[in-house]
Amino acid sequence: MIASVFGGLRRRPLTASCVGLLASVAAQAASAADCPGHPDAIGTSRTIVVDPRAHPMIGTMQYAKTLPLADREVVLTFDDGPLPKYSNQILDILAAHCAKATFFLIGRQANGNPEGVRKVRDAGHTVATHSQNHPTGMDRLPLDRSKQEIEQGIASVTAALGDGTAPAPFLRIPGLRVNNGIEEFAASKGLQLWSADFPADDWRDVSANRVYELAMQRLEQKGKGILLLHDIQPRTVAALPRILRELKTRGYRIVHVVPATPDRPATPTEPQQWQLHPPSEMVAISRWPKVPKFASAGPAALPVPALSDLDWHTSDLGARASRRGRGVPLPPVTLWPRQTTLPPAGTLAALPVPARSIFKIPESASMTLLAASARRATSTAQAQARVMDVSSAKPAGKSRHGHAAAAQPPASAGQTAQAPQGAAGAAPKPAAQAKRNGRSVRVAGLKKR
Ligand SMILES: [Zn+2]
Repeated sequence: MIASVFGGLRRRPLTASCVGLLASVAAQAASAADCPGHPDAIGTSRTIVVDPRAHPMIGTMQYAKTLPLADREVVLTFDDGPLPKYSNQILDILAAHCAKATFFLIGRQANGNPEGVRKVRDAGHTVATHSQNHPTGMDRLPLDRSKQEIEQGIASVTAALGDGTAPAPFLRIPGLRVNNGIEEFAASKGLQLWSADFPADDWRDVSANRVYELAMQRLEQKGKGILLLHDIQPRTVAALPRILRELKTRGYRIVHVVPATPDRPATPTEPQQWQLHPPSEMVAISRWPKVPKFASAGPAALPVPALSDLDWHTSDLGARASRRGRGVPLPPVTLWPRQTTLPPAGTLAALPVPARSIFKIPESASMTLLAASARRATSTAQAQARVMDVSSAKPAGKSRHGHAAAAQPPASAGQTAQAPQGAAGAAPKPAAQAKRNGRSVRVAGLKKR
């Protein structure tokens, strides 16, 4: 109706934006309507149906793939229940926020509290399994034991459900301690192995506030994903309301996950949606500019000096040999004049000794000018410092230090162009002067204090 008012070119884009707007309004209205009496609830924005056989392992804490979530979508998961004291509180909190989650239940807990299993199901959450006895280090168990743990866990939860239905074919291994055998077995049974995208460390001895902080910080780092929590911990009960409120404040949305069945086909997805960040968004691309830094740092560009650049055969090699004799083992007889067989020839090729030409810097003239002006600035600053009052004496000393440091390298570089040996002799002069200047200012400042 609205679109028909407008004709021609404007019709299509306007219709499209209207549809988009209506869809988002409808989504918000739906989540509010789904949670009567809780207008501030985050709600559950959508349900995705996944086929475990198409994607047998998910969760970027361990695998390349994760659930096909859009940016800012979060899947809540709770392990180790049911334990009435805390699990019931978790269910109440989720109900108050109309948030749907996936519960990985332990078979033994289900045997002891079958009603707890039914409560999870009746609240509309996804019931999944987490082994029979929650053995630590399942990756080190004999594979037969692991298989037994997995199958018994499913059987116990199925019995607790009591209506002939089975739990979702979603499996999380205790402590995420999987091995190849477990992964292959799960896949052969059509079970989807769930790792997670980030935990909140709520099984550790940390405060509820820390659980909240970790959940939000790690979520912010990944932007979306599967959050791993435990419904048997008091700190999780304490942290969850705040997590849900903050998720809503920051614009995150809760996604509920259910398994595909013959009557309920999987939500259509593209393969790249199962990656947390598709290749085009990889962080590595933003790090690209760092590469040239590494490339330029290597000494590979330095030319290998010719033998003629060295003074071995022109100076008193014998005298040098005797001088170095104590530290470096040298052949008793000098190798001169058989220089073609000199052992260092091969070694030299690998050494980054710069050729003399390296030091012939074309800008030597401008460098000398720079050095001269720097020296002028130094003496000006020195003069100023002498008439300076107490409050500014110290900063002046600092800035002069800066000038002195800048003046030193160009001076030696300029002189090195003429004679490398001379540079060493000439350099100390400005350096010493600069040092004296700096010291005099510091002393003046101290005296005035
Ligand atoms: Zn567990």
